[in-house]
Amino acid sequence: MKEIASPGRTKMLLEKYGFSFKKSLGQNFLIDTNVLRTAVKAAEVDETTGVIEVGPGIGALTEQLAKQAGRIVAFEIDQRLLPILQESLQPYDNVRIIHQDVLKVNLKEVVETYFEGMGKIKVVANLPYYVTTPILFHFIESGLRFEHMVLMVQREVADRLTAKAGSKDYGSLTVCVQYYAEPQLIKVVPKTVFVPKPKVDSALVKLTLRTEPPVQVADETLFFKTVRACFHQRRKTLLNNLLHQLIDKKRKTELLKVLDELGIAPTRRGETLTIDEFARLANRLQTLVD
Ligand code: SAM
Repeated sequence: MKEIASPGRTKMLLEKYGFSFKKSLGQNFLIDTNVLRTAVKAAEVDETTGVIEVGPGIGALTEQLAKQAGRIVAFEIDQRLLPILQESLQPYDNVRIIHQDVLKVNLKEVVETYFEGMGKIKVVANLPYYVTTPILFHFIESGLRFEHMVLMVQREVADRLTAKAGSKDYGSLTVCVQYYAEPQLIKVVPKTVFVPKPKVDSALVKLTLRTEPPVQVADETLFFKTVRACFHQRRKTLLNNLLHQLIDKKRKTELLKVLDELGIAPTRRGETLTIDEFARLANRLQTLVD
């Protein structure tokens, strides 16, 4: 039997079940086994690895994972795909498909219920692009030790995740994700390897979750608020953004003093600050926010 991701088998399965794609659910299925194998290889999975997959579709990626990993739990929101998955993944007894919106899943419970005895747990997914950021934060903020997350995302999201301070793609998403993980661009992927073809190019990224944050942050909530405030209007200076978003304007003199002591010019833009500078700034702002 051909692999699920082969164009012929995909077409056969979709026709047999009369499946029509829902754009609103980000349904673009992969029909290139090489790309799928690259994703599985990047995730470094073996028989001791438990994998959470988001949106198995008709099982193209799930099948490649099932050949290498110990156990796979895949969450699919679209009920119409369940009978297809039951047929396509029938040969694999290490796969569990759960019909649920992944954003409503209690990940801690999933790990406790399904991955007992697994050495490592990873996340591998060709993400539905309309919910990329919420899904990303659902996993990284769960506090669970997912060693790697290998994700297919829109090319421009990959550029933002992997951006360096000072570049045009560097923004609050970059800083917030890089606080938790080290990102790596694995491969830019053309539109042609999906059905239907999406409007944008894609890229595979690998996030290696940090065991320790890269900087010392006294109050994480304030750190993230500071980052978001500094990027609020990209063309505004740091000083203006902070005074509009976070710090009472009456405290401008105190804010200028803090910036001066940190050696951060108030005229700089948020996009020029490194994560370390954001951390040092946030740590000093504690006394200026109520
Ligand atoms: N993994 C398949 C592949 O690579 O061919 C399909 C990937 S497709 C880009 C995204 C999948 O996520 C679709 O099957 C879609 O129905 C599913 N999906 C969309 N939103 C979801 C959500 N909130 N929770 C779980 N699955 C979701």
